[in-house]
Amino acid sequence: MKPAFHPSLVNHPLGDPGLLIQFLYQKRALLFDLGDISRLPSSTLLKVSHVFVSHTHIDHFYGFDRLLRVVFGRDKTITLFGPKDFLSNVEGKLRGFTWNLVDRYNESITLDVVEVHPNRLLKASFRAIDKFKPSQETESPFEKGVLLSEPEFSIETAILEHRVPCLGFAFRENFHINIRKDRLNELGYPPGPWLNELKEAIYKGETDSFIIRVPKLLRGKEFNEISLGNLKEQLVLISPGQKISYIVDTVYNEANKKRIVDLVRDSDVFFCESPFLAEEEERGRDRCHLTSRQAGLLGREAGVKRLEVFHFSQKHSTRTDQLYQEAEDAFKGKETSVP
Ligand SMILES: [Zn+2]
Ligand SMILES: [Zn+2]
Repeated sequence: MKPAFHPSLVNHPLGDPGLLIQFLYQKRALLFDLGDISRLPSSTLLKVSHVFVSHTHIDHFYGFDRLLRVVFGRDKTITLFGPKDFLSNVEGKLRGFTWNLVDRYNESITLDVVEVHPNRLLKASFRAIDKFKPSQETESPFEKGVLLSEPEFSIETAILEHRVPCLGFAFRENFHINIRKDRLNELGYPPGPWLNELKEAIYKGETDSFIIRVPKLLRGKEFNEISLGNLKEQLVLISPGQKISYIVDTVYNEANKKRIVDLVRDSDVFFCESPFLAEEEERGRDRCHLTSRQAGLLGREAGVKRLEVFHFSQKHSTRTDQLYQEAEDAFKGKETSVP
């Protein structure tokens, strides 16, 4: 199966946490957390449509300025989600700069900001053309944890404990479309952008009579008009989509564990923080962070396929092998020497 979405950590596990999900067939990306994002080229940041900020501790939010610097002066809207107080955190960042020259730009970036509470979402827009003064402030009910739902994927959240509320996230591809290359050759259909149109039509739930224009030749200007129903029958295989989850900065206790396991259940890849060693459970509890072993136990209980630990404490820069090993052992159900 050729994936349509590619997740990758922004930094080495000892660096600031962050996850990028790139869309392989579109110029688009999603970003989770805004710590040090200097490794991401401007061309990648310009593809980001939505940013999901777990919380605004500095290692998760100080890259906001770089993102803004790159997108400023563009005609673009970026939606940012964050926990309690997120609107005032974003507003405070924006008030830190002088915007008297914004009217000299032809294009205006808009930031749509969403603050997540247990039962409601608070929203506001910040537009460069208005010198980033908040506008369109609204409040809406929020119940099922789904922050974003598009034809191809959805993003779910859970509010976790970290002395402050901290958001965990799960990305779920609704289903995966495979194009049968063998049939493409047999039928003499040339590859090209029409295949993306075909996928889009399926994701959007168009009816079988919907017409797709299939070029007669590669880069040709003549087309056959073929119904979506026919093309689905001839070319398309549907399989379950990917699930990718992201958990940082949180504590291991029964209530919180349940929230995490429910959110990340059956993920294909589970990105989980692991700042501390297995022997540092007390330190983890005190600082509201997970240990390597706890990350492994969470992944195991949630039945995830692959566990990727990261957000290692700088203190353990020479013991990263141990962090990986302890997480992997707990994930595989091997006993460790920790009580
Ligand atoms: Zn934190
Ligand atoms: Zn952190």
